[in-house]
Amino acid sequence: MKFQDKKQLQALLAALPGSGQQLLRKRAETERNEIMRQFKRAPSMDELMLNMLLRERAEPEQVTVEEEAKFSGLVVGLTRKRATVLCDDIEVSAPLVAELAQMQKSAIAVGDMVRMDGDPLMVQAVLPRRTKLSRPDPGAVHIERVLAANIDVVGLVTSVKFPPMRVRLLERALLAIQRGGARPIIIANKVDMLSPDERETELARLQPFGEQGILVIPCSAATGEGMPELRAAFAGSTCVFVGHSGVGKSSLLNALDSSLTLVTGELRKGDGKGRHTTTASHLYHLEGGIRLIDTPGVRAFGLWKMTPEEIRDCFCEFGELADDCAFSNCSHTHEPRCAVKQAVEQGEITAARYSSYERLLRDDEE
Ligand code: GDP
Ligand code: ZN
Repeated sequence: MKFQDKKQLQALLAALPGSGQQLLRKRAETERNEIMRQFKRAPSMDELMLNMLLRERAEPEQVTVEEEAKFSGLVVGLTRKRATVLCDDIEVSAPLVAELAQMQKSAIAVGDMVRMDGDPLMVQAVLPRRTKLSRPDPGAVHIERVLAANIDVVGLVTSVKFPPMRVRLLERALLAIQRGGARPIIIANKVDMLSPDERETELARLQPFGEQGILVIPCSAATGEGMPELRAAFAGSTCVFVGHSGVGKSSLLNALDSSLTLVTGELRKGDGKGRHTTTASHLYHLEGGIRLIDTPGVRAFGLWKMTPEEIRDCFCEFGELADDCAFSNCSHTHEPRCAVKQAVEQGEITAARYSSYERLLRDDEE
């Protein structure tokens, strides 16, 4: 921006009515957050507002065709070879370019920021991700399937009664969540079904997670208990609910935002397991600046069996020591002269962390 222009723009900005300034400030704020999120630093608010004014003032013939056609947006829905992208409050449906369509399961996910271009308009490229929720493809384990992108908080939902809570499964899911960079919280749903005594016993089983610094929220989608806490934990973030079917993910979504009326599954009689009720992939904008992604793959996240190698990968601080183990393929369990076990003895790795690793490797439960 030339100095001359800047002076002019500043004068123009000052002359705008209060509401106009407010609107501009709001848009600049959104843009700044987006830039911060992607690049960790951003121009000042003033700079951005002036830039916006400059763009608005630009005569049509000054806007090159290229600038007009290129824009970026947020993927809020995905089907085979097509994405629904939110650009400046407008939803656009566009096909994916061939390279993205071929690798759809790993190359693009709901929550991704994408660049669109061309005539007809197509989704051309995916911008770098901050975080992801991913798992190995069940059919080809060397391929990573990305289930959702740029998630801040993962609400790992467990039911405290029907179906019963499975702590080992939670432990596994937590590892896989943390690997993708998102912050997990545990939602202990259906507390309304417990007597005060049962409540104490069941919630005590989750205490070790609390001690690891993971937020545990006792909740009931039925009575509304815990919903304010959940809303606070999700506020201003991109979130997902994961957990077994029947634990109450749809019910929690409905309780979070009354404008949503998702179909919840009635529990099957007998085995206490729910039916799958979500088939489409979507990102919902809820009250409180919450962006919630709901897809079948996300819902089923964390329920697969992890290989010993996958578990080892999740304990990345073990990997850093593994070079000093006597055996190059050391599993850090029974082998002699293991650097990881030495680190545990010396207190560099906590005993709790190591025993969690051992349990996960042994684990055939569930
Ligand atoms: P999802 O498969 O995880 O989406 O689970 P749903 O939301 O479909 O819920 C499964 C069943 O549990 C439904 O019959 C719900 O009415 C019931 N349910 C969900 N949350 C609660 C709760 O907090 N308390 C009680 N008592 N039942 C609940
Ligand atoms: Zn070792």
